Amino acid sequence: MVDHNDVQAALSARIDGEDSAIADDVLDAHLAECPECQRYWEQSLQFSRSLSAVPMSPPDNLSDVIYAGVETEFQRVSARRVLLMTACRVTLVLLALVYVVWAGRLLAPEMTDVELGAASVRVGIATALLFVSWKPSQIPGVLLIVGAMFGFSLGFAVLEAITGGTAPWSQLLTLLFTCAVLVAMWVTDYGNPLRVLNARPI
Ligand SMILES: [Zn+2]
Repeated sequence: MVDHNDVQAALSARIDGEDSAIADDVLDAHLAECPECQRYWEQSLQFSRSLSAVPMSPPDNLSDVIYAGVETEFQRVSARRVLLMTACRVTLVLLALVYVVWAGRLLAPEMTDVELGAASVRVGIATALLFVSWKPSQIPGVLLIVGAMFGFSLGFAVLEAITGGTAPWSQLLTLLFTCAVLVAMWVTDYGNPLRVLNARPI
């Protein structure tokens, strides 16, 4: 009498292409008569077929597939970055023009020293904005100056508002907007994937 477990082990071996402990004719004779082992045989065959349907080894060009994906992602990020940087540059140049016009408004034949100083500061900011639109790495220094100017103007505007004067809200907003564009441009430039790739370990 052949044990079912032995038969099923032999059937597994047959599927795997290994030698079985039971002779083929004995195995087939048992299989023909035993519903339990027939069920096992069919299930094993089915399982074996479903396994062979799944590719067990990665495709040969897997690295190509990965590189292609990375490259596409890289290009996508780069394109978005270039677009953002261009938008920031254009905005900074426009802002520089605003500051020059702003300075020009202060210029008058009978202008005071204070007004002259204020006009020079605005021309200075305009120059700095044009400079960083070309050299974004210099943004932190310019941001510090514009940010300090915004803080000072804000304090001054609040004081004016409290004492009933007219606070220069449009100037404040212009300064705030300048800060925001500078921050956005700096972050965009800082996230430059080319810069990361070119970074050398210290
Ligand atoms: Zn059996």
